[in-house]
Amino acid sequence: MPAAFFGHGSPANTISINRYTRAWGNFAATLPAPRAILVISAHWYVAGTRISAAPRPPTIHDFNAHFPLPLFDFAYPARGDAELVDRVIDLAGPIEVERDATTWGIDHGAFSVLAHAFPAADVPLVALSIDRSKPPAFHYALAARLAPLRDEGIFIMGSGNVVHNLELADPTAGAPAYDWARRFDERAANLLAMGDHESLVNYHRLGPDARLSVPTPDHYLPLLYAIALQRSGERVAAIVEGFAFRSGSMLSVSIGT
Ligand code: ZN
Repeated sequence: MPAAFFGHGSPANTISINRYTRAWGNFAATLPAPRAILVISAHWYVAGTRISAAPRPPTIHDFNAHFPLPLFDFAYPARGDAELVDRVIDLAGPIEVERDATTWGIDHGAFSVLAHAFPAADVPLVALSIDRSKPPAFHYALAARLAPLRDEGIFIMGSGNVVHNLELADPTAGAPAYDWARRFDERAANLLAMGDHESLVNYHRLGPDARLSVPTPDHYLPLLYAIALQRSGERVAAIVEGFAFRSGSMLSVSIGT
């Protein structure tokens, strides 16, 4: 089974049709039918590695009241998958993964993409949190331990944004990406093409463009959960690229397609 990273952008993408959401849907249509999906969203960024263990993980409307009302009515009713939860806990060991049936579920990082990639919500879904107390190398190593899932029909998807600077976001229609944002996005794309995982894991060494593009690690780390699954000889393919609000990269990539 291929794996992927999606640049999710605004929560409003959930209920929009645009070139990004179309690309997500077109990509998913090329996949073999997954047995289940494991999603790593930028928005489940907490102390500790947790896994959604509810029989039907709730839809979490984790955005402010300025978004359109239909977004608050959106539900993604996929059922959970207890077998996959057990399997992830086994594979992750000795890293501890805590079952969480109450505090979180399917947030907008996950459902804004899923709404287009798997609109029927008929594939079982499990979410894995990002431990905010750990360095990038920890996340890469944890993800690499999950690689056997690809042979078990599990579609693993990270959802974040390679460049994500909310403070400098500029909604002016048609405004081009900031130079530093475009440079870092291109650099990341080149490193992905070269399979230079070491540089991607140590992105904080990539200079001032990296500091502006990744002011906090939450939206970048889901990329590492995808690339850690790359096998020898597999290439990274672009699903779609572009920018939203000048400072948000919409780059989405697949592995093993
Ligand atoms: Zn986000």
